[in-house]
Amino acid sequence: MKDIMPINGQFAMPALPYGDLGTIISHSTLEYHHGKHLKAYVDNLNKMLPGSGLENMPLSAVVCKAEGGLFNNAGQVLNHAMYFEQFSPSPRPMSAKMTTLLEHNFGSVEAFKKEFEQKGATLFGSGWVWLSADPAGKLVITQQRNAENPVTDGLRPLLTFDVWEHAYYLDYQNRRADYLTALWQIVDWPIVESRL
Ligand code: MN
Repeated sequence: MKDIMPINGQFAMPALPYGDLGTIISHSTLEYHHGKHLKAYVDNLNKMLPGSGLENMPLSAVVCKAEGGLFNNAGQVLNHAMYFEQFSPSPRPMSAKMTTLLEHNFGSVEAFKKEFEQKGATLFGSGWVWLSADPAGKLVITQQRNAENPVTDGLRPLLTFDVWEHAYYLDYQNRRADYLTALWQIVDWPIVESRL
């Protein structure tokens, strides 16, 4: 994972690498999710950092060391930076290496996607479903609550779907499972693989 560094003790707003994601995530959702929700997390993080003792650390280190409100805002900035970065309106397919890795760990790419969607759909309340690599290189799927990120458990996060209602409600209302199924169409696999 490419870490996010602060400049003069403050984190910049992660840029959206595309203007549009077609019908999978509407422009309206992008405007609220990136422009308002993520912006608020970045602003809150930057307000809380001075005097915390965690100034000038990479974002993943802040997430691993912080508690309370600072943890929540730092975690949400890291989670959303990874979420928005991994999509594309013209997504590239996974490599043969990634296909083999998923087959080795989950039996098949379809079985991986099914378990990932199922864990996203059954996470109660707000949170994130993640694909990560453990220190031995084994791939695991985890449900993380609220602002959690698997990096705090010593895992290397690779792919995440946001299951907070703000991520899908404008487009899919209560149909979280439909949102999760649709997201595969915009995952840009070389970005995911670059985090290995
Ligand atoms: Mn979100």
